[in-house]
Amino acid sequence: AATLSLMAEVEKETFDIEKADLLVKELRKVYRSGKTKSHEWRVSQLKSILKMVEEKEKDIIKALQEDLSKPELEAYISEISMTKGSCKHALEELEGWMKPQKAKTSITTYPSSAEIVSEPLGVILNKAIWAQATDRDGASGALIGAIAAGNAVVLKPSEVAPASSSLLAKLLEEYVDNSAIRVVEGAVAETSALLEQKWDKIFYTGSGHVGRIVMAAASKHLTPVILELGGKCPVVVASDVNIKVATMRIIAGKWGCNNGQTCIAPDYIITTKAFAPKLIDALRHELVEFFGVNPLESDDISRIVNLYHFKRLKRLIDDDKVSNKIVIGGQTNENQLKIAPTILLDVPEDALVMKEEIFGPLLPILTVENIEDSFTVINSRSKPLAAYFFTNNEDLKKDFVRNVSAGGMLINDTILHLTVPSLPFGGVGESGMGSYHGKFSFDAFSHKKGVLYRTFKGDSPTRFPPYSAGKLQL
Ligand code: NAD
Repeated sequence: AATLSLMAEVEKETFDIEKADLLVKELRKVYRSGKTKSHEWRVSQLKSILKMVEEKEKDIIKALQEDLSKPELEAYISEISMTKGSCKHALEELEGWMKPQKAKTSITTYPSSAEIVSEPLGVILNKAIWAQATDRDGASGALIGAIAAGNAVVLKPSEVAPASSSLLAKLLEEYVDNSAIRVVEGAVAETSALLEQKWDKIFYTGSGHVGRIVMAAASKHLTPVILELGGKCPVVVASDVNIKVATMRIIAGKWGCNNGQTCIAPDYIITTKAFAPKLIDALRHELVEFFGVNPLESDDISRIVNLYHFKRLKRLIDDDKVSNKIVIGGQTNENQLKIAPTILLDVPEDALVMKEEIFGPLLPILTVENIEDSFTVINSRSKPLAAYFFTNNEDLKKDFVRNVSAGGMLINDTILHLTVPSLPFGGVGESGMGSYHGKFSFDAFSHKKGVLYRTFKGDSPTRFPPYSAGKLQL
C-alpha cells in the first residue's frame, strides 16, 4: 500500500521537479525488492520493447519526420532496425551474459575456486539525445543495456525532439513495467532536478559542455558516469582509393544520417593538396546523384532540428574566415530550417567551423602535403569519437590505427562500426568516457563482483601468528 501511495504522488504525465526524490526512492524500493534482477523480468521487458518498436514503427517514423523531416527509409534503417537488432541481440545473448564467469585462483588461496558475478548497479539515469531520438544510440541503446543488466531506469529523452520525446514517454508507459522503468520529459529544470538525486549510474549522451555539468553533479554522490559526447570526427582520404566508393560512403555517413546531425558524422576531411580537386569533383558528382541539383528541395535529407541549431550553423557559414572557401553548396532556407550539403576547401584552423563540432551539413576539407601529415593534424586536436581513413595501403592503415587516438575507428567507410555489437562504442578524452553496445552495454550497467570460494582446508601455518622462528624456516 505504501508503494502504491508513493507511486500516486509521482505524476507520470507532468513531472513535478519537487518530487524527483520520490521518483528515485520509489524505483530504488522496486529495485531492492529484487524484481528487476530476475532473468524473466529482463526478458519480458526486452520483448516488450521489441514488440513496441514492431507495432509502433509507423508512429516512430512519423515522430522522427516531425522532429527532423527524417526520410522514412533512413528512419527505418538507422532507428527502427537498429533498436530491434539491439533488443534481439540482448535477448539471444542474455543468458550467457548473466552467467558468472569462472576465474583463475592463485597458489595463496589453494584450494579454492573463483568467479566474476555480474550484478546490476541499481537505479540508472539515462539522459538521451535528440539526434537518433529513438534508436539505440539515442534513447533506447542505454535503456536496453540497463534493463538487460537488471536495473531500474529513468529515461530522460531530449526536449529538442519533442515529438519523439512524447511518443517514447507514451509508448514506454504502455509497453513496459512502469514500476521500474520510467520516462521523464522536460528540459533544463527537469534534468537539473534529476541530476541532484543519487543514482547508481548516469548515462549521458550530448555535448561536453553539459557533460561537465553531469559529471560535477554525479561527483556529489560518487555516482559513476558514462559520457557519450561528441567532437570533430576526421576523415582522411588518401589518393589510392576507389574514389567513387569512398565519396558515396562519405556522403552516406555525413548527409545520409540526419544531415550531419550525428555524433560520428564526418566533421572534416583531410587529404593531400594534389588529390583535393579530384575528391571535390567526385563529391560534387555524387551529391547531385543523391540529392539532385537543388538539395534544399530533396526529400532524402533531414532538416536542421530547430532554429537555434540552424542559426548556430549559419554562423559557421557566415564567418568571414570562410566566406571565399565554399566550393559546394552553401544554400540555406531559414523558414524550412534547411541547409544544403556544404563543402569548404582549405579553411584556416582558426575558422569557427574548425574550432567547434559542426553537428550539421557543413564539411570542411583541410589539405596536407603528405597523407601521413594528417595524423599530426588529428593528434594536435581533442581526441575524436570516431576517425576514418580511406586507403588501400596496408602500412598506412597500420600506422593510422597505431598512431591516431580516437573513440573508435573505421577504415574505408564511415559510421558503420556502430552497427557491430561486438565492438565497444564510446569516446576517449573529450569525446567521452565508458562504452556500450552489445555485451559492452550489459557490462556498462553491471558491477563485476569478484567472488572467491574457499573450503575449510589448506591453510599454511605461516599465515597465522605467532610468527615463530620455526615457522620462518618452513
Ligand atoms: P547538449 O549537451 O547541449 O544537450 C542539451 C540537453 O542538455 C538538453 O536536453 C538540455 O535540456 C540539457 N541541458 C542543457 N543545459 C543544461 C544544464 N545546465 N543542466 C542540465 N541539463 C542541461 O547537446 P545536444 O545538442 O543535445 O547534443 C549534441 C551533442 O551530443 C554533440 O556534441 C554530439 O556529438 C553528441 N552526441 C553524442 C553521441 C554519442 O553516442 N557519443 C550521440 C549523439 C550525440
